[in-house]
Amino acid sequence: MSCDYIALANQGVQGLSPYQAGKPIEELQRELGLKHIVKLASNENPLGPSPNVLAAVDKAAAEIARYPDSNGFELKAALANKLGVAAEQITLGNGSNDVLELITRAYIEPGKSAVYSQHAFIVYPLAIQACSGRSIVTKAKDWGHDLNAMADAIADDTQLLFIANPNNPTGTVVDEASLVNFLDKVPANVVVVLDEAYFEYVEASDDDSVDGVALLKHYPNLIVTRTFSKAYGLAALRVGYAIASPEITDVLNRVRAPFNVNSMALAAAQAVLADDEYLQQGRQVNAEGMKQLTQGFDTLGLTYIPSAGNFIAVEFATDTAELYQKLLKEGVIVRPVGIYEMPNHLRVSIGLEAENTALLDALKKVL
Ligand SMILES: *Cc1c(COP(=O)(O)O)cnc(C)c1O
Repeated sequence: MSCDYIALANQGVQGLSPYQAGKPIEELQRELGLKHIVKLASNENPLGPSPNVLAAVDKAAAEIARYPDSNGFELKAALANKLGVAAEQITLGNGSNDVLELITRAYIEPGKSAVYSQHAFIVYPLAIQACSGRSIVTKAKDWGHDLNAMADAIADDTQLLFIANPNNPTGTVVDEASLVNFLDKVPANVVVVLDEAYFEYVEASDDDSVDGVALLKHYPNLIVTRTFSKAYGLAALRVGYAIASPEITDVLNRVRAPFNVNSMALAAAQAVLADDEYLQQGRQVNAEGMKQLTQGFDTLGLTYIPSAGNFIAVEFATDTAELYQKLLKEGVIVRPVGIYEMPNHLRVSIGLEAENTALLDALKKVL
């Protein structure tokens, strides 16, 4: 005897589609038998891991028969020290994706809603749907978040609101004055998530730039999320974190799975957090790559959305499905963003100089 196991799943889960990740290099190698492949599809750090990380992982590997520290004491202490917050304000996650899900699971249930923007990071709708919550999507303004529209969209049943800053896949940012004005308008019973996955790439010289952690003191309903996957180069190890009030942190720890961050990841995160040189080098490579790619797009007559992250959304005249396939045949993996209501864009991560050149050459050839 069998039954419809999809219909048997929770209501919200039935409406989900699995997350589509950037195509792995090995998959394209299997499919096309190409030797040299450039992957600019998942906003990874093109430098590879910090040497300090490899040493820390090696050392931690000797202890993998033991469970990790479920509370991540040492990493939290290091983060608290660096950020000027209390360890009781930090929740560690298996990537910040995990933290975003913990937040949603803690605050969304059937009959509740969450607000996010058109073109915003896809994990928000997935997490809301998994909890059978209602999504309220506001129209974007110049590809970015329209904070006034978001404040106006808050309904009686709204518990949560997501802002990605910089946003993925558009690379847009909100300025500090607009964000503060917005936070002043949001009722205290609506939890605001400020997703700062690309925080480390934002030019600190930019006076208008937002540091969510500095705003926590004034807004007890604010949660800031950050990650070690992007600028810190630990995407495969899965470490992210939330910074919030001790009360919200207590809530998140109630839904957090025990041992959600493994011991090698904890050790690696601690090692790279202390490696300022690695971070600075990555920022410089990113700034140079941004210049190289945008100049290359200019030369090709392509428009793009100005980005504060380590990626750029480039616009084409038509739907990019075919172009994406043509680039794959040239050994270049980028990211189609049709699922973000951006069918004519491709999101391109900024790579090393030679990788960026490979992308520009491939584009020139196939266009
Ligand atoms: C990449 C990304 C994340 C999450 O990455 P993790 O690897 O799960 O830490 C979160 N938010 C945005 C906007 C991202 O682009």
